[in-house]
Amino acid sequence: MGARTDNVTDPDLAAGLLLMRRGQAYWARRLNELRDDEFDAPSLLPGWTRRHLVAHVGFNARAVARLVEWARTGVETPMYDSDQQRGEEIEFGATLPVDALRNLAAHAAVHLNVEWRDLPEEAWSHQVRTAQGRLVPASETVWMRTREVWIHAVDLRNGGSVHDFPAELHTLLLDDLIKVWRRKRKPGDRDVVLEPVDRPATYRIDVDEEDLPPLVVRGRAADLVGWGIGRSSRGVITAGGTPPPPAPQWL
Ligand code: ZN
Repeated sequence: MGARTDNVTDPDLAAGLLLMRRGQAYWARRLNELRDDEFDAPSLLPGWTRRHLVAHVGFNARAVARLVEWARTGVETPMYDSDQQRGEEIEFGATLPVDALRNLAAHAAVHLNVEWRDLPEEAWSHQVRTAQGRLVPASETVWMRTREVWIHAVDLRNGGSVHDFPAELHTLLLDDLIKVWRRKRKPGDRDVVLEPVDRPATYRIDVDEEDLPPLVVRGRAADLVGWGIGRSSRGVITAGGTPPPPAPQWL
């Protein structure tokens, strides 16, 4: 029989699980506010209707659950067989009746939560592979899902906003943006500095960069997140006082 509560004593991990669950609740609330006949409308993501988005978030929960299962059993179960399989699954999911999409979203999330809840403490450090091919500890799956549920709730385009995110999530996302941009940066790519006007910290890709002046972008932490994740350019401005160009590719 499974445990009733998480087998987690690490306070950071416990806080991460809480933030993920708040995000799951936020996503579910926004989804519940959509009427059935509003599912055909576009999401915020190019080429995707809300149907595609709901299918994707449901299938993502299943894919993340496969990683948690991998950590528990030691049997390699990848998130997706291939990018093509992932894409076909979403295209198929988008054709499902709205009731089936709502069920997929709800059931996949419950199943994932059970996988996390029953994961023995020592298994949280077992290595699993992300869809991008990186090896990460199973604990990273919590953050992977946290990003999905909060940000895709905004992508539903029915009133969700990065301004609804808790301040701690803004901080985690600013850190993550810089971390991923640093990993993906190629020679010649411009350095970026994020300067939240409502935080004491600044966030920079390359602290040793000397050749080219960095792109400095200022705004409230929430607006910097909106710009950094490629969803909005509201409330942000460069050090030179102009609207910033699109942010570097994140995920
Ligand atoms: Zn996604």
